Amino acid sequence: MKVTGIKQFRIADPSGIGGGYHIVKIETDAGISGLGEVGIPSWGKAVTGAIEHLSQLVIGEDPWSTETLWQEMFRSNFFPVDRVYTCAISAIDIALWDIKGKSVDKPVYKLLGGPVRNRVVCYPHIAGSSIEELIAAAREVHEQGWKFVRWHLPSSDESFPEPGVLEPRESINIAIESVAAVRDALPDIEICLDVHTRLDTTHSIQLCQALEPFKPFFIEDPIRAENPGSYEKVSRKVNLPIAAGEQWSSKWGFREAIENEWIDYARIDLCIAGGLTESLKITHLAETHYIDIVPHNPLGPVSAAACVHLCMASTNVGVQEMPKAPGSFATDLFPVQIGFSDGYAFAYDAPGLGVELNEALAEQHRLSEEDDFLPRMTRRDGAFTNW
Ligand SMILES: [Mg+2]
Repeated sequence: MKVTGIKQFRIADPSGIGGGYHIVKIETDAGISGLGEVGIPSWGKAVTGAIEHLSQLVIGEDPWSTETLWQEMFRSNFFPVDRVYTCAISAIDIALWDIKGKSVDKPVYKLLGGPVRNRVVCYPHIAGSSIEELIAAAREVHEQGWKFVRWHLPSSDESFPEPGVLEPRESINIAIESVAAVRDALPDIEICLDVHTRLDTTHSIQLCQALEPFKPFFIEDPIRAENPGSYEKVSRKVNLPIAAGEQWSSKWGFREAIENEWIDYARIDLCIAGGLTESLKITHLAETHYIDIVPHNPLGPVSAAACVHLCMASTNVGVQEMPKAPGSFATDLFPVQIGFSDGYAFAYDAPGLGVELNEALAEQHRLSEEDDFLPRMTRRDGAFTNW
């Protein structure tokens, strides 16, 4: 079996997750194809170009050679690659694993060593334009069977879910009030608060210390990711579980934080970190320090499936990010998706990842060729701050 072609679909889906998806389809001379997904769809042409470039290494090769192809894609231009290329490698690698599974009529989790569990507990995203709305949203997902809720550090202005201005002190105060209110309304629900790299180290430590009585499941991305060593200070001063890693590409991004046990949960993004091949290695590295993974998944059905297959094959799993229940969105674009019930996701005993793309519809909903940026946020003095 040889790879014969790599297609890309940048698909608009305003009612789905994140406004759309960047999907890769790899075809073979055996008539089997596989799907992968890019982790940073807003980087547009940069990643599209990286995938076209890497296609030279992959077309004509055996899709079973995932380790060799990963090494060649990562190292073939002498200089180690970074996020633009690891997004491309991730999508290609995930599609190759989909093909491998289909070629032997096995789900991917069985090729990765699973199952070690039948289903994977998940957390949804919630939001509200006030604390009352946030509580109502938490109650709604709780009644649907979800065991967790997650929202992000609020802005300082009125637009609570999609903020424009962030002043640390005001934002911290709203966050403490909202965590206390949700904990009071739903004593049994697990709370995940995503700081989203919006605070500096000192403010984040203050926030975490104030949240300790409410026992959140974790605080995510309390600081920015460029300098992993700053997690040493956070972990020394905070007595709450810390989750981080969605901005790190490859095992080397995670190495220091795992080896020093600066983080409690490894937020691997399979579609940024290097696909299933690399994420399995990071998962096993985390296992040596009793650190559980919480795969980052703010993307579409292919990413969701890859994450759940990894979790079904891994012993050290905390919870899986799942903004919306699989099968409840984008069902026209992806008519076959993984399963979901009572707050848990699961892969069926079906070949590959168990996801199918409606290519004709994807062609009709192509994203514009213009590259995009995520929302931007400022301080009140007009200075740029992380969204
Ligand atoms: Mg996050």
